[in-house]
Amino acid sequence: MYLLKYDRSEEVNQITQRWGGYNHFPPSWKDITGDPNQVEVVKRSLLDLDFYAAETRQMHYPEEHKHNGCYVGATLFFTSSNNGFAIAKVYDRETFKFEDRYFVFGCRHNDCIGTTLGRCYYGYTCKDCGHYWTVDSSD
Ligand SMILES: [Zn+2]
Repeated sequence: MYLLKYDRSEEVNQITQRWGGYNHFPPSWKDITGDPNQVEVVKRSLLDLDFYAAETRQMHYPEEHKHNGCYVGATLFFTSSNNGFAIAKVYDRETFKFEDRYFVFGCRHNDCIGTTLGRCYYGYTCKDCGHYWTVDSSD
């Protein structure tokens, strides 16, 4: 695991407890390759280094998804927003080619409580995970 800001085993342990181990999919894993807008957000997050840790995993599919193969190898990027994104090269058995696939995991913050903190300055709290963030819309 590569940590951008930390190099302590405690942070690695916290990530493993929260997001699973080397052979496990993180919670709420979703393939977004078919959605160009979400793929663009992932690419932008990667370019902006909008993550604090990255890890390459070989995640084994559960039995009901074995038609996709035995596993997917992907690089996961963990953000401080209680979620993350991943990129994988997946072999397509029909076209016999590798293709880039994009994924997201963790909370999507779909149900939030907003508060006004000042002029053009807002705070949001996710009802699902409790994550809090602010937005300055005057930029
Ligand atoms: Zn959330």
